[in-house]
Amino acid sequence: MTKIYGIVGHPVIHSLSPAIHNAAFKAEGIDAEYRVFDIDPSNPDDLANFCFETDLNNIGGFSVTMPYKQEIMQYMDYYDPLAKIIGSANTVSNEDSQLVGYNTDSTGAIQALQEKADLAGKKVLIMGAGGAARAIAYGLKEFGGDVYIFNRTLEKAKKLAQDFNLDVIDYLDIAKENFQIIINTTPTGSSPNSEESLLSASQIPKGCIVMDLVTNPIKTKLLKEAEEAGAEIISGERMLLFQAAGQFEIWFGKTAPVEAMEKALYENL
Ligand code: NAP
Repeated sequence: MTKIYGIVGHPVIHSLSPAIHNAAFKAEGIDAEYRVFDIDPSNPDDLANFCFETDLNNIGGFSVTMPYKQEIMQYMDYYDPLAKIIGSANTVSNEDSQLVGYNTDSTGAIQALQEKADLAGKKVLIMGAGGAARAIAYGLKEFGGDVYIFNRTLEKAKKLAQDFNLDVIDYLDIAKENFQIIINTTPTGSSPNSEESLLSASQIPKGCIVMDLVTNPIKTKLLKEAEEAGAEIISGERMLLFQAAGQFEIWFGKTAPVEAMEKALYENL
């Protein structure tokens, strides 16, 4: 029987994940189908029911996106240690009817950054202090980055900084520091507010690398400002690709067909 995989979140109707994963299944000759599971947060039991019924529905695993990455943890039988440290799961694997939570956002972001730079010793600004910021901050520390956090809600920035031994920075000080890498992990600049950017060109050092996690639009206002400043840019689909490759490897225990996944991603952008 065809095994089912999918993405759980809300709203997920425009997700690129089905195109990426279905291309991987096809490339590897796997009898599986990846679907969209849009779970409306207004019914609090739906996420729990979905998890309890994974076996009934022949679901081999699923991706998890906003707003469920933290909430899903309570329905897991086990967590991978990395998901536990980060405090959120973007991947669930159904292993002999036990749900196991994993996090591939950290390695996905690190791989996207490593396409452009060696991370050891780099001075990095992370904007945002939510689930994605946590995953990326952890990964960057592991690779020797010198990480600073700016967040709209100062208390959350302080908590993240305390947990992973990072520094907190005030917005007005950002331009004074010579950051080598800047990462936007907030939804700022995503459609329909695509004219918004947390930074302008004058706050971005020339030669810096600026990565935006937003995937809609692909070239955000922040990335346009970065180009104006003479920075290199990394758009959100690079992390999307690598975190999806990590999910495939968890579900099937073999190397992901990244080329086929990448081709499908760019065909569907
Ligand atoms: P989250 O846990 O809800 O965190 C969101 C963060 O953004 C919080 O720090 C929040 O600040 C901040 N924020 C929200 N709206 C803001 C605004 N208008 N101005 C300034 N800061 C704002 O979300 P998440 O899971 O980390 O995801 C964050 C973004 O990354 C989303 O757009 C998501 O789609 C994207 N993402 C992309 C990928 C990829 O593969 N490309 C992977 C994961 C996530 P407060 O603390 O003040 O609320």
